[in-house]
Amino acid sequence: MKPSIQKLYNIFKIEAENQYFNRAVIGGLPRILDKWVSEAREDAVPEALIQLVQTTLRKYPHLPIEERSVSLSHLWDNIRTQFDTTTPITFPGPEATLKEVSTPSQPKTPRPARKSTPPPKKPAAPASAHNIPTVDQPVDQNALNAPIRVLPGIGQKYANVLSRLGIYTLGDLLYFFPRRYDDYSHIPAIRDLHYGQEVTVLGILQSVTLRRTDGRRSIVEAILTDGSGAVRITIFNQPWQANKLQIGAPYAIAGRVEQYLGRLCFINPEIEPLEEGSLNSGRIVPVYRLTENISQRWLRKTIKQVVDYYAPKLVDYLPPSIRESAGLIELSHAVMQTHFPDSHEELKAARYRLAFDEIFLLQIKVLRQKYLWGQRAAERFFPPEGWLDKAFSVLPYHLTEAQQRAIEEALQDFASGRPMNRLLQGDVGSGKTVVAAILAALIAQNGAQSAIMAPTSILAEQHYRTFLKLLTSTPNVDSHNADTALVEPLMSADAIRLLTGATPDAERRELLSDLAEGKVRILIGTHALIEDPVQFNNLQFIVVDEQHRFGVEQRAMLRSKGTNPHLLVMTATPVPRSLALTIYGDLDLSLLDEMPPGRQPVATYIALPKERERVYSLIKSQVEQGKQAFIIYPLVEESEKIPALSAVEEAERLQKEIFPKFKVGLLHGRMSAEEKDEVMRRFQNGDLQILVSTSVVEVGVDIPQATVMVIEGANRFGLAQLHQFRGRVGRGNDPATCILIPQTADEAENERLMVMTRTQNGFELAEFDLQQRGPGDFLGKRQSGFAQAQFASFTNLHLIEHARQVALKFFESDPRLENPQHQLLAKKIELLWQESPVDIS
Ligand code: ADP
Ligand code: MG
Repeated sequence: MKPSIQKLYNIFKIEAENQYFNRAVIGGLPRILDKWVSEAREDAVPEALIQLVQTTLRKYPHLPIEERSVSLSHLWDNIRTQFDTTTPITFPGPEATLKEVSTPSQPKTPRPARKSTPPPKKPAAPASAHNIPTVDQPVDQNALNAPIRVLPGIGQKYANVLSRLGIYTLGDLLYFFPRRYDDYSHIPAIRDLHYGQEVTVLGILQSVTLRRTDGRRSIVEAILTDGSGAVRITIFNQPWQANKLQIGAPYAIAGRVEQYLGRLCFINPEIEPLEEGSLNSGRIVPVYRLTENISQRWLRKTIKQVVDYYAPKLVDYLPPSIRESAGLIELSHAVMQTHFPDSHEELKAARYRLAFDEIFLLQIKVLRQKYLWGQRAAERFFPPEGWLDKAFSVLPYHLTEAQQRAIEEALQDFASGRPMNRLLQGDVGSGKTVVAAILAALIAQNGAQSAIMAPTSILAEQHYRTFLKLLTSTPNVDSHNADTALVEPLMSADAIRLLTGATPDAERRELLSDLAEGKVRILIGTHALIEDPVQFNNLQFIVVDEQHRFGVEQRAMLRSKGTNPHLLVMTATPVPRSLALTIYGDLDLSLLDEMPPGRQPVATYIALPKERERVYSLIKSQVEQGKQAFIIYPLVEESEKIPALSAVEEAERLQKEIFPKFKVGLLHGRMSAEEKDEVMRRFQNGDLQILVSTSVVEVGVDIPQATVMVIEGANRFGLAQLHQFRGRVGRGNDPATCILIPQTADEAENERLMVMTRTQNGFELAEFDLQQRGPGDFLGKRQSGFAQAQFASFTNLHLIEHARQVALKFFESDPRLENPQHQLLAKKIELLWQESPVDIS
């Protein structure tokens, strides 16, 4: 099966087994589409089918549950008729699956953890909910799996609306936490607002006006007063607000206090009509994410019912010993206080507990993964006597100490009898490729095979050329190692091969047969490597470059082509060490923290928007000398909400008005993989002189002639990401320049950007990002667990380190989770494990 089809198969199967609750994918089925579409295109899935998958999945969440099985089963039938080898899936009607929740003693349930349960008792009405049941009459946890329709007053209509928020069960509602809180006990007077403050203010709208600046853009301006003063609200490009906002009505406005022409204002704040009574409630009030057709007030009331009834009965899966040693409040109290806090202190403790759980559980999952891998046996490999010296001597340069250390660490893994699970982390240009090449050559020397997987064909081709150059050349007599000048090349060229989607059929057939016979020792390629017909003879070592670009399944599939092969994943995203231990806890870490000698720093400047003309002249003069330039934009297309320049429109303008004599190319994330490759290739071979791109610009590709990197809207990117962009230039011999253009002349932002001009060290910048912006930038990229984290990403590093330490100690004391006191926790982890298996590489 093609990998993209396999992926759908897996998802549909899980979805069918789980009652069509749109939960097979975190955040809902349509979430896979962005990535899936480009994968399907790489797999040469017919375009019409891709379109069908898109429309079906987009509609899916909006279908009533009863219709979902039919929709998926139609889609799968369609797929099967196009690929007649594809396996059938049974899509039982939702009746059958819904019964599973409510009928006792159903013979086979897909997930062992979901026991069948009688329907939950109707929750008490809010009025009687005050006599909170005691904790020693815990509710059967499975009652929380009941659909929300069991609540009084929620029929199919409301159930459909709530499904748009990802709420299907009582448990979903219990864990649907507020987006923010309005503290009605501390509302500042408008007179006391100050610049930069993040606040909620209350007042009456005094006026609302709509201006259209041109055909498409509009500005709504409103004035809010509260008796102490007035403040202006400016809303860009949402003309309908003008009709919706009611003069004379009370509103809550939340956002950052900005400044315009010396006056304080709000720009695109959150605006909510005020409910009766909330003004005087004097409480901290939760504000939930909404969707069409439900009001804040209704949702708050509904959630209150469920929280009052169920939260006190939640059984805490953390054993008291952990709670005490970590200073955590009980789970049920934390859930209640997160929804309806009694005070700021309670809220803080509650959120801390939930954040702790997120990190702690994730850590246990990761540690367990590492433990399980550690139980497996792998083949041992050793360099023959003198082989390493010979290998080093054929290289065109001396390895840095960091590179040598990384190789030594990997050699220890090779010799250990356990599969290597190593992350090689090194800044752009730190020389990761050569490390992979030497290790793969050693495996080849031992008669086994290696696979090197890169995210795009352009990168795979580049690796192929590099491997050939490094491993098949003999050193010159006057190279740095004259005494070993007579050595043979490490490998012959036909033992190293390239396989991408573009490899012609005849060549592919021959290659695959050489691979199956073991003549090919190193196979480099894109995810064409994981396709069905690719059979290795004895795959023992896998390298995954730019690992964040691959999904869990893809890595698992490559792995399954060998038996417990050694695995090295490489990334250029610098993650501060403290955090790396948490995110990559299941991997051993090798760090290339040293650059090869002779690298020229990329001169970095900040230019204000009004200085753009000068930036353009610099680009002009460089291009006239045969050089090339990148210009990065934060958006693909102009957005309704964010006033920032967009790549598509700017590329057009630059080509027409600024650089009519040069060729300007465009690259963005909505293009297919082939389209992107094509543009990148034209830029690489000099056909395009200027490349306008969004943040998708390829990591890792060498463009030696590129000497200028301009980043528009630079304040919108993290420093680590800016640094990645900067790493695209200065790869040749010529001095290179990077120019950061923030959106406005705002001092605070420029302060942050100034750090870019002071250091070229990616880890330093990542560290700075971490302190300034919190860990959010680094999380979510790798582990679904982190992407899910609601609380942990905006709490501090101290928490992450704390939870990690507690998890480590706990796990070491009971790695198999056998202690009777740990059974609830074991069950919880088992459940999480089934929902989202750990990303193992
Ligand atoms: P990255 O870590 O970003 O993948 P590469 O492996 O592409 O970096 O290496 C970047 C450049 O540095 C390549 O041109 C490579 O030839 C060169 N290089 C790697 N190691 C050394 C070294 N020890 N001394 C000099 N140049 C090196
Ligand atoms: Mg690289």
